Amino acid sequence: MSRIAYVNGRYLPLAAASVNVEDRGYQFSDGVYEVCEVRDGRLVDERRHMARLKFSLSELRIAMPMSPASLSVVLHEVVRRNRVRWGIVYLQITRGVSRRDHAFPPAGTAPSIVVTARNLDLAGAEKMAGDGVAVISVPENRWERVDIKSVSLLPNVLAKQAAREQGAREAWFVDRDGRVTEGSSSNAWIVTRDGKVVTRQADHGILKGITRTVVLDALAAQGLKLEERAFTLEEAHAAREAFITSASQIVLPVVKIDGRPVGNGAPGLIASALRRDFHHYAELS
Ligand code: PMP
Repeated sequence: MSRIAYVNGRYLPLAAASVNVEDRGYQFSDGVYEVCEVRDGRLVDERRHMARLKFSLSELRIAMPMSPASLSVVLHEVVRRNRVRWGIVYLQITRGVSRRDHAFPPAGTAPSIVVTARNLDLAGAEKMAGDGVAVISVPENRWERVDIKSVSLLPNVLAKQAAREQGAREAWFVDRDGRVTEGSSSNAWIVTRDGKVVTRQADHGILKGITRTVVLDALAAQGLKLEERAFTLEEAHAAREAFITSASQIVLPVVKIDGRPVGNGAPGLIASALRRDFHHYAELS
């Protein structure tokens, strides 16, 4: 079955789906994106993802290319046409096509929109969660507005590649004060020896993950102790548990940081329980 992409109003086979070479996403990474988990063919937390999309667009002064209702139809239709049961739907909106010039294009230039979807390997993901993953640390070298979900991801690409080359799943950015900000494509968490769950406060220095927001709801509902603050790499090394969250990975236990085992070196109880219960707190549409 050939995969189908939605590109500026048309559903096309992936091989025929393309954007203009003067698209500002291609030229300047002048655009934003969202990734939603798809579960049983339905979108997870669409409402929250669309709210964050609106925020990212408005921070960059890019117009929303269609009504939220139409966009929802397109997202579901791309999932349906690709027969995604468990996987992701990807949405990208850029400032559109215009002769290359750094400043904004003429008013009225239509934003470009692309939607794709694909299945993920559910069994593989569950195995990975059961084993836990390794992370490495890398210096934070991104701009100061990573709360905007921009497609400008070069530092994230390099960090992820460094992780891969060291046999790790993720790279954690560490700021100049030695504090972890977040992963290259996930939010970072630890559980301290005395059972407090810690994740960085959602300021401009991290992406306010939708999975993070839902996990905060789950923690509150379960009466677990939470501290929304930055934690250092030293604290992470001394932690009882660590984990990462993102829409495509849900909650993934971290068992090694920079080659050193976390806790007893096995996935933690809190992380594993959060992964198991996550969809109880998420919305399906
Ligand atoms: N931080 C970064 C840098 C990310 O790329 C992602 C994944 N998009 C996240 C955090 C997690 O966000 P979410 O839970 O919304 O997928």
